[in-house]
Amino acid sequence: MARILAVGIATLDIINLVEDYPPEDAEVRALEQETRRGGNATNTLVVLSQFGHQCSWAGTLADEPDARLIRADLARHAIDTSAVEWLPRGKVPTSYITLSQRSGSRTIVHYRDLPEYSFEHFRAIDLTRFDWIHFEGRNVEVTQRMLERVTKLHPELPCSLEVEKPRPGIEQLFPYPDLLLFSRVYARACGFQRAEGLFDRVRAQAPTAQLVCAWGEGGAYARDRDGRGYHTPAFPPPRLVDTLAAGDVFNAGIIHGLARKRPLELTLIEAARLAGRKCGQQGIEGLAD
Ligand code: ADP
Repeated sequence: MARILAVGIATLDIINLVEDYPPEDAEVRALEQETRRGGNATNTLVVLSQFGHQCSWAGTLADEPDARLIRADLARHAIDTSAVEWLPRGKVPTSYITLSQRSGSRTIVHYRDLPEYSFEHFRAIDLTRFDWIHFEGRNVEVTQRMLERVTKLHPELPCSLEVEKPRPGIEQLFPYPDLLLFSRVYARACGFQRAEGLFDRVRAQAPTAQLVCAWGEGGAYARDRDGRGYHTPAFPPPRLVDTLAAGDVFNAGIIHGLARKRPLELTLIEAARLAGRKCGQQGIEGLAD
Protein backbone atom coordinates (compact mmCIF):
# COMPACT_ATOMS: atom_id res chain seq x y z
CA MET A 1 0.00 0.00 0.00
CA ALA A 2 1.39 3.38 -1.01
CA ARG A 3 0.47 6.94 -0.14
CA ILE A 4 -0.20 8.61 -3.48
CA LEU A 5 -0.77 12.27 -4.34
CA ALA A 6 -2.16 13.21 -7.76
CA VAL A 7 -2.19 16.74 -9.15
CA GLY A 8 -4.75 17.27 -11.89
CA ILE A 9 -8.42 17.84 -12.47
CA ALA A 10 -11.82 16.65 -11.44
CA THR A 11 -14.66 17.22 -13.87
CA LEU A 12 -18.33 16.68 -14.14
CA ASP A 13 -19.11 14.23 -16.94
CA ILE A 14 -22.56 14.35 -18.49
CA ILE A 15 -22.83 11.19 -20.51
CA ASN A 16 -25.43 10.50 -23.17
CA LEU A 17 -25.56 6.90 -24.32
CA VAL A 18 -26.68 6.73 -27.97
CA GLU A 19 -27.24 3.74 -30.21
CA ASP A 20 -24.91 5.10 -32.90
CA TYR A 21 -22.74 8.19 -33.03
CA PRO A 22 -24.93 10.81 -34.75
CA PRO A 23 -23.99 12.58 -37.99
CA GLU A 24 -23.58 16.37 -37.83
CA ASP A 25 -26.81 18.36 -37.60
CA ALA A 26 -28.82 15.28 -36.64
CA GLU A 27 -31.26 15.09 -33.75
CA VAL A 28 -31.21 11.84 -31.82
CA ARG A 29 -32.60 10.59 -28.55
CA ALA A 30 -30.26 9.30 -25.88
CA LEU A 31 -30.92 5.79 -24.52
CA GLU A 32 -29.62 6.78 -21.09
CA GLN A 33 -28.14 9.80 -19.40
CA GLU A 34 -25.80 9.78 -16.47
CA THR A 35 -23.84 12.38 -14.54
CA ARG A 36 -20.53 11.22 -13.09
CA ARG A 37 -17.39 12.68 -11.66
CA GLY A 38 -14.57 12.50 -14.20
CA GLY A 39 -11.13 13.97 -14.83
CA ASN A 40 -7.96 12.00 -15.45
CA ALA A 41 -6.14 12.48 -12.15
CA THR A 42 -9.18 11.80 -9.98
CA ASN A 43 -10.21 8.77 -12.07
CA THR A 44 -6.74 7.32 -11.64
CA LEU A 45 -6.93 7.95 -7.87
CA VAL A 46 -10.33 6.26 -7.58
CA VAL A 47 -8.89 3.08 -9.09
CA LEU A 48 -5.73 3.26 -6.95
CA SER A 49 -7.93 3.68 -3.90
CA GLN A 50 -9.79 0.48 -4.83
CA PHE A 51 -6.44 -1.32 -4.67
CA GLY A 52 -5.99 -0.09 -1.10
CA HIS A 53 -3.64 2.82 -1.67
CA GLN A 54 -4.04 5.93 0.45
CA CYS A 55 -4.91 8.63 -2.08
CA SER A 56 -4.87 12.43 -1.98
CA TRP A 57 -5.96 14.84 -4.66
CA ALA A 58 -4.54 18.30 -5.37
CA GLY A 59 -6.70 20.32 -7.76
CA THR A 60 -9.13 23.22 -7.98
CA LEU A 61 -12.86 23.33 -7.33
CA ALA A 62 -15.29 26.21 -7.73
CA ASP A 63 -17.65 26.98 -4.90
CA GLU A 64 -20.81 26.06 -6.81
CA PRO A 65 -23.42 23.26 -6.66
CA ASP A 66 -21.74 20.92 -9.17
CA ALA A 67 -18.64 20.74 -6.97
CA ARG A 68 -20.71 18.93 -4.34
CA LEU A 69 -21.19 15.88 -6.51
CA ILE A 70 -17.44 15.72 -7.15
CA ARG A 71 -16.61 16.07 -3.51
CA ALA A 72 -19.12 13.43 -2.47
CA ASP A 73 -17.73 10.97 -5.01
CA LEU A 74 -14.14 11.53 -3.84
CA ALA A 75 -15.24 11.12 -0.22
CA ARG A 76 -17.00 7.86 -1.11
CA HIS A 77 -13.65 6.59 -2.43
CA ALA A 78 -11.78 7.77 0.67
CA ILE A 79 -9.73 10.27 -1.32
CA ASP A 80 -8.27 13.00 0.83
CA THR A 81 -9.17 16.49 -0.45
CA SER A 82 -7.40 18.61 2.13
CA ALA A 83 -5.03 20.02 -0.53
CA VAL A 84 -7.89 21.20 -2.76
CA GLU A 85 -7.80 24.87 -3.79
CA TRP A 86 -11.33 26.28 -3.50
CA LEU A 87 -12.10 29.21 -5.79
CA PRO A 88 -14.92 31.66 -5.15
CA ARG A 89 -15.88 31.97 -8.81
CA GLY A 90 -15.96 29.81 -11.91
CA LYS A 91 -17.55 26.53 -12.94
CA VAL A 92 -16.19 23.05 -12.46
CA PRO A 93 -14.86 21.73 -15.77
CA THR A 94 -17.65 19.89 -17.51
CA SER A 95 -17.37 17.20 -20.20
CA TYR A 96 -20.35 16.54 -22.45
CA ILE A 97 -19.81 12.99 -23.60
CA THR A 98 -21.54 11.07 -26.35
CA LEU A 99 -21.06 7.36 -25.84
CA SER A 100 -21.83 5.15 -28.80
CA GLN A 101 -23.37 1.82 -27.88
CA ARG A 102 -22.37 0.25 -31.17
CA SER A 103 -18.64 1.04 -31.04
CA GLY A 104 -18.05 1.89 -27.36
CA SER A 105 -16.32 5.10 -28.52
CA ARG A 106 -16.66 8.32 -26.56
CA THR A 107 -16.74 11.77 -28.16
CA ILE A 108 -16.16 14.66 -25.78
CA VAL A 109 -16.99 18.37 -25.79
CA HIS A 110 -15.30 20.01 -22.85
CA TYR A 111 -16.08 23.34 -21.18
CA ARG A 112 -14.02 24.88 -18.42
CA ASP A 113 -13.89 28.19 -16.62
CA LEU A 114 -11.61 27.47 -13.70
CA PRO A 115 -7.96 28.30 -13.09
CA GLU A 116 -5.49 25.43 -12.77
CA TYR A 117 -4.02 24.41 -9.42
CA SER A 118 -1.51 27.00 -8.26
CA PHE A 119 2.13 26.56 -7.31
CA GLU A 120 1.43 28.39 -4.02
CA HIS A 121 -1.01 25.68 -2.97
CA PHE A 122 1.32 22.94 -4.09
CA ARG A 123 4.17 24.44 -2.09
CA ALA A 124 2.07 24.18 1.07
CA ILE A 125 1.74 20.38 0.76
CA ASP A 126 4.01 18.34 2.99
CA LEU A 127 5.47 15.96 0.41
CA THR A 128 7.13 13.76 3.03
CA ARG A 129 3.64 12.31 3.60
CA PHE A 130 3.76 10.55 0.21
CA ASP A 131 5.39 7.58 -1.49
CA TRP A 132 4.41 8.57 -5.04
CA ILE A 133 3.37 11.76 -6.85
CA HIS A 134 1.47 11.73 -10.10
CA PHE A 135 0.96 14.76 -12.36
CA GLU A 136 -1.56 15.20 -15.11
CA GLY A 137 0.54 17.10 -17.66
CA ARG A 138 -1.66 20.15 -18.06
CA ASN A 139 -0.46 23.61 -17.18
CA VAL A 140 3.12 23.28 -18.41
CA GLU A 141 4.83 26.23 -16.71
CA VAL A 142 3.35 25.62 -13.27
CA THR A 143 3.76 21.85 -13.51
CA GLN A 144 7.43 22.40 -14.28
CA ARG A 145 7.84 24.41 -11.09
CA MET A 146 6.11 21.66 -9.13
CA LEU A 147 8.28 18.96 -10.71
CA GLU A 148 11.40 21.00 -10.00
CA ARG A 149 10.37 21.27 -6.38
CA VAL A 150 9.77 17.53 -6.07
CA THR A 151 13.04 16.52 -7.72
CA LYS A 152 15.09 19.07 -5.82
CA LEU A 153 13.67 18.61 -2.31
CA HIS A 154 12.63 14.95 -2.54
CA PRO A 155 14.83 13.31 -5.16
CA GLU A 156 13.98 9.86 -3.81
CA LEU A 157 10.22 10.34 -4.24
CA PRO A 158 8.94 8.50 -7.35
CA CYS A 159 7.09 10.78 -9.67
CA SER A 160 4.98 10.15 -12.78
CA LEU A 161 3.64 12.41 -15.51
CA GLU A 162 0.74 11.77 -17.84
CA VAL A 163 1.21 13.18 -21.34
CA GLU A 164 -2.17 12.80 -22.93
CA LYS A 165 -2.32 15.65 -25.41
CA PRO A 166 0.20 17.78 -27.25
CA ARG A 167 0.46 21.06 -25.36
CA PRO A 168 2.94 23.80 -26.19
CA GLY A 169 6.19 23.17 -24.34
CA ILE A 170 5.10 19.92 -22.68
CA GLU A 171 8.42 18.33 -23.71
CA GLN A 172 10.21 20.55 -21.20
CA LEU A 173 8.61 18.45 -18.43
CA PHE A 174 10.15 15.17 -19.68
CA PRO A 175 13.50 15.36 -17.85
CA TYR A 176 11.91 15.31 -14.36
CA PRO A 177 9.63 12.27 -13.82
CA ASP A 178 10.66 8.67 -13.20
CA LEU A 179 7.73 7.48 -15.28
CA LEU A 180 6.20 9.04 -18.40
CA LEU A 181 2.71 7.87 -19.39
CA PHE A 182 1.96 8.74 -23.01
CA SER A 183 -1.21 8.28 -25.02
CA ARG A 184 -1.62 7.15 -28.61
CA VAL A 185 -3.19 10.56 -29.31
CA TYR A 186 0.03 12.26 -28.24
CA ALA A 187 2.25 9.83 -30.20
CA ARG A 188 0.24 10.36 -33.36
CA ALA A 189 0.14 14.13 -32.90
CA CYS A 190 3.96 14.01 -32.84
CA GLY A 191 3.87 12.14 -36.16
CA PHE A 192 4.57 8.63 -34.86
CA GLN A 193 2.52 5.66 -36.03
CA ARG A 194 4.29 3.43 -33.51
CA ALA A 195 5.09 3.95 -29.84
CA GLU A 196 8.72 2.88 -30.44
CA GLY A 197 9.32 5.94 -32.63
CA LEU A 198 8.06 8.18 -29.84
CA PHE A 199 10.23 6.39 -27.27
CA ASP A 200 13.33 6.81 -29.48
CA ARG A 201 12.76 10.53 -29.61
CA VAL A 202 11.79 11.02 -25.98
CA ARG A 203 14.80 9.07 -24.71
CA ALA A 204 17.11 12.02 -25.36
CA GLN A 205 14.92 14.31 -23.21
CA ALA A 206 14.24 11.72 -20.49
CA PRO A 207 17.38 9.60 -20.21
CA THR A 208 16.39 7.76 -17.02
CA ALA A 209 12.60 7.56 -17.10
CA GLN A 210 10.49 4.47 -17.69
CA LEU A 211 8.35 5.10 -20.77
CA VAL A 212 4.84 3.77 -21.28
CA CYS A 213 2.34 4.38 -24.07
CA ALA A 214 -1.24 3.06 -24.19
CA TRP A 215 -2.40 2.12 -27.67
CA GLY A 216 -6.17 1.54 -27.40
CA GLU A 217 -7.25 -1.82 -28.82
CA GLY A 218 -3.58 -2.27 -29.85
CA GLY A 219 -2.66 -2.79 -26.18
CA ALA A 220 0.28 -0.88 -24.74
CA TYR A 221 4.04 -0.41 -25.06
CA ALA A 222 6.82 0.29 -22.59
CA ARG A 223 10.55 0.83 -22.54
CA ASP A 224 12.61 0.37 -19.40
CA ARG A 225 15.62 2.37 -18.23
CA ASP A 226 18.01 -0.02 -19.96
CA GLY A 227 16.29 0.41 -23.30
CA ARG A 228 14.41 -2.90 -23.32
CA GLY A 229 11.03 -2.63 -25.04
CA TYR A 230 7.82 -4.44 -24.12
CA HIS A 231 4.39 -4.79 -25.68
CA THR A 232 1.19 -6.26 -24.34
CA PRO A 233 -1.88 -6.91 -26.45
CA ALA A 234 -5.19 -5.48 -25.24
CA PHE A 235 -7.53 -7.78 -23.31
CA PRO A 236 -10.90 -7.31 -25.02
CA PRO A 237 -13.85 -7.87 -22.69
CA PRO A 238 -16.59 -10.33 -23.69
CA ARG A 239 -18.65 -7.30 -24.73
CA LEU A 240 -17.29 -3.81 -25.33
CA VAL A 241 -19.42 -1.51 -23.15
CA ASP A 242 -17.58 1.75 -22.41
CA THR A 243 -14.02 2.86 -23.16
CA LEU A 244 -14.37 6.19 -21.33
CA ALA A 245 -11.50 6.53 -18.82
CA ALA A 246 -9.77 3.35 -20.05
CA GLY A 247 -6.54 5.36 -20.22
CA ASP A 248 -6.94 6.61 -16.64
CA VAL A 249 -7.56 3.07 -15.43
CA PHE A 250 -4.56 1.83 -17.38
CA ASN A 251 -2.37 4.53 -15.78
CA ALA A 252 -3.63 3.49 -12.34
CA GLY A 253 -2.62 -0.08 -13.16
CA ILE A 254 0.89 1.04 -14.08
CA ILE A 255 1.31 3.16 -10.93
CA HIS A 256 -0.14 0.34 -8.80
CA GLY A 257 2.42 -2.14 -10.16
CA LEU A 258 5.47 0.11 -10.07
CA ALA A 259 4.66 1.53 -6.62
CA ARG A 260 4.80 -2.06 -5.40
CA LYS A 261 8.16 -2.49 -7.17
CA ARG A 262 6.83 -5.00 -9.65
CA PRO A 263 8.76 -5.40 -12.92
CA LEU A 264 7.70 -3.09 -15.74
CA GLU A 265 6.97 -5.96 -18.12
CA LEU A 266 4.52 -7.64 -15.76
CA THR A 267 3.00 -4.32 -14.71
CA LEU A 268 2.28 -3.47 -18.35
CA ILE A 269 0.33 -6.70 -18.84
CA GLU A 270 -1.60 -6.29 -15.60
CA ALA A 271 -2.49 -2.68 -16.44
CA ALA A 272 -3.81 -3.70 -19.87
CA ARG A 273 -5.81 -6.50 -18.27
CA LEU A 274 -7.32 -4.02 -15.80
CA ALA A 275 -8.14 -1.51 -18.57
CA GLY A 276 -9.72 -4.31 -20.62
CA ARG A 277 -11.94 -5.26 -17.69
CA LYS A 278 -12.99 -1.62 -17.45
CA CYS A 279 -13.99 -1.57 -21.15
CA GLY A 280 -16.48 -4.36 -20.38
CA GLN A 281 -18.40 -2.29 -17.81
CA GLN A 282 -19.91 1.16 -17.31
CA GLY A 283 -17.80 3.43 -15.16
CA ILE A 284 -14.80 2.59 -13.00
CA GLU A 285 -16.30 1.02 -9.88
CA GLY A 286 -15.26 -2.34 -8.50
CA LEU A 287 -12.22 -2.85 -10.73
CA ALA A 288 -9.96 -4.33 -8.05
CA ASP A 289 -12.40 -7.09 -7.03
P1 ADP B 1 -7.81 6.54 -23.65
O1 ADP B 1 -8.91 6.10 -22.74
O2 ADP B 1 -6.98 7.61 -23.02
O3 ADP B 1 -8.25 6.85 -25.04
P2 ADP B 1 -6.63 4.09 -24.74
O4 ADP B 1 -7.73 4.04 -25.75
O5 ADP B 1 -5.23 4.07 -25.26
O6 ADP B 1 -6.78 5.31 -23.72
O7 ADP B 1 -6.84 2.84 -23.78
C1 ADP B 1 -6.02 2.60 -22.65
C2 ADP B 1 -5.86 1.11 -22.47
O8 ADP B 1 -7.15 0.52 -22.34
C3 ADP B 1 -5.20 0.41 -23.66
O9 ADP B 1 -3.81 0.37 -23.50
C4 ADP B 1 -5.83 -0.97 -23.61
O10 ADP B 1 -5.07 -1.79 -22.73
C5 ADP B 1 -7.20 -0.71 -23.00
N1 ADP B 1 -8.22 -0.65 -24.06
C6 ADP B 1 -8.63 0.44 -24.75
N2 ADP B 1 -9.55 0.12 -25.67
C7 ADP B 1 -9.75 -1.22 -25.56
C8 ADP B 1 -10.60 -2.17 -26.20
N3 ADP B 1 -11.42 -1.81 -27.19
N4 ADP B 1 -10.53 -3.46 -25.80
C9 ADP B 1 -9.69 -3.83 -24.80
N5 ADP B 1 -8.87 -3.00 -24.15
C10 ADP B 1 -8.90 -1.71 -24.52
